[in-house]
Amino acid sequence: MTRQNDNYKSVDVMDLNDRRDLDAKKRRQSTRTRNPRNNNMNRNRRNVNDFYDEGLKAKRGRNLNKEFAIITYSFLILFICLTGYLIYFVQFESEDFINNSYNPRIAHLAETTIRGDIISSDGEVLATTQVDDAGNETRVYPFGNMYAHLVGYSINGMSGIEEEANYNLLRSNSFFLTKLFNETAGKKNHGDTVVTTVDSKIQSAAYNALGSNDGAVIAIEPATGKVLAMVSKPDYDPGSIAANWDRYISDDDSSVLLNRATQGLYAPGSTFKMVTLMSYMNQNSHYDNFEFDCNGAYNIGDYSMHCYNGKAHGHENLMDAFGNSCNCAFSDIGLGLNVNDYGVFCNKLLFNQTLPTKLSNTAKSRFSLSADDADSTIAQTAIGQGQTMVSPLHMAMLASAIANDGLLMEPYVIDHTQNDQNKPVKNFKPSTYGQLIDSQMASKMREYMRYVVTDGTGSALNSDTYAAYGKTGTADFSSNVNENHSWFVGFAEDWTGRKIAVAVIMEGVSSGNSYAVPATKQIFDAYFTY
Ligand SMILES: [Zn+2]
Repeated sequence: MTRQNDNYKSVDVMDLNDRRDLDAKKRRQSTRTRNPRNNNMNRNRRNVNDFYDEGLKAKRGRNLNKEFAIITYSFLILFICLTGYLIYFVQFESEDFINNSYNPRIAHLAETTIRGDIISSDGEVLATTQVDDAGNETRVYPFGNMYAHLVGYSINGMSGIEEEANYNLLRSNSFFLTKLFNETAGKKNHGDTVVTTVDSKIQSAAYNALGSNDGAVIAIEPATGKVLAMVSKPDYDPGSIAANWDRYISDDDSSVLLNRATQGLYAPGSTFKMVTLMSYMNQNSHYDNFEFDCNGAYNIGDYSMHCYNGKAHGHENLMDAFGNSCNCAFSDIGLGLNVNDYGVFCNKLLFNQTLPTKLSNTAKSRFSLSADDADSTIAQTAIGQGQTMVSPLHMAMLASAIANDGLLMEPYVIDHTQNDQNKPVKNFKPSTYGQLIDSQMASKMREYMRYVVTDGTGSALNSDTYAAYGKTGTADFSSNVNENHSWFVGFAEDWTGRKIAVAVIMEGVSSGNSYAVPATKQIFDAYFTY
C-alpha cells in the first residue's frame, strides 16, 4: 500500500509536473492563438531595436553625407569663384596687366610686331608706322599737332591713345596663314589698328576754333559718351617729341605736354551757375517763384559783388538771372542755399572725385565750402569764382548728361580694334554711369540753357540748322581785368535728334561771348554740316 501510495504519489508528482509543463505549453500555445497582438508586439519590440540601430547607422551615414556635401559644395563654390575671376581677369584685367610697360611680354611683342595704326572714326590715319627698306621703323603722325594730346606719343614713355591702346597696337590678329608665313620668314606681323571715336571733321573744327589761343575743347556724343573731338593747346608734334623732349619737360609755364581737356583745372566762372542753379532747384521745389531786382551791385558786408561791366539787369525771374548771367542774383541764390547740401549735391555731380570715364589721367574737379565760410566766399563760389576748379572734361560731362535726360554715359575714345584686313577684333561698347540728375531737372535745365542762346549771353549760337543750349563763362584768374578765361559749356541738337555736347575754354582772353561762343559755333556748324 505504502509502496502503491508511494508509487501513486510519485506518479502523481510526475503527472503534476508533466501537467504543469503541459499546461504551460498549452497556455503559451493558447495565448499565442488567442492573442496574436502579443506576437506582433514581440516582433515589434525586436523591430524597434533594429530600427534604432539602423537609425544610428543612417544618422552616421547622413552626417557623413552632410560632411561630404559641405566639402563638395565648398570646392564647387571655390571652383566657381576661381572660374569667375579667371573670366573677369581675361575680360577686364588681363589687358591692363599685359599693357603694363614693365611687362616683358610687351617688349617681346614690339620685337615681333609692327606697331598698328590709329585712325579716326571716319578713316583718317592719325598715327602709323613706316618701315624703310633696311627695316627701320618710324612712327609717323600725318596730322602733326592737331591730335597731339589725343593720340599721344609712344617713345620717352607714352601718352594718349598710344599709351591706352599700347597692347592692342602691338597685338596682331592678322590672318593665321599670313602670320605663319611671316613667322617662318622671320618677318614682323602687322599690329591691329585702333579705331577711335573721334570725327576728323569735328577735331579739325575744334583745333582751328581755338586758333592761337591756349585752352582746350572736348566734344562728346551725349547718347553714347563717344569723344568726338579733344584738343589742347599749346600743343606739340608727336613726330618730333624725341628731338624736343628736353625743352618740353623743362617748360613749366606752358606745360605743353599737359592735356588741358582732361587734366587742366580752371576756375569755372559763370558756367558754374549751372551747378548753383541745379542745387537751388534741388533745395527749393518752388524755384519758379524766384524774383530778384538787380541794380548791378550786391553788397555783402564790406564786400560788393558786381554784374559784368556793372550792368544793372533790373527785375528778373530765375530764367532771366541765368540767361543774363547775373552775378548779383546768383550771389543771392548762393547765400540762400544750405551750404552742406550744396556740397553734397556738388559731390553727386562728380566734384572731388575721379571722373567715371575710360579716358586715362583725368583731374578731379574741386569744390569746397563750409557753413563757417564768409558770406562773400559763399557768394563768390555760387558764381564760379572762389576755390572751385573744374576740368573741361567734367563740364562737358555735365552738359552731356543734361542733353541726355540726366543719364550720364562714360566718355570713351577707342571705338574698336581691327586687324590689317579691317576685320573687327574687339568692340568697346558705351558704358552707362547712371542718372547724374533726374530727367525732370535735366528737362528744366535744357529750358534755361536754351534761353541763354535765344535771349541771353549765348545769342551768337542761334542757327537755322540746329538748336544750341548752354552757359557762357568768364573766369578771373589774375589781377589784370583784361585777362580772363573764356568759357562755353553746352550742347546742340538738330531735328533728327543728333546731339553734341562741348566744353570750350580759351585762356587769358576776354569774356565768354567774345571768344568761346564763336569757337563753339564753328564746332556745332561742322558737326551739323552734312
Ligand atoms: Zn545782374
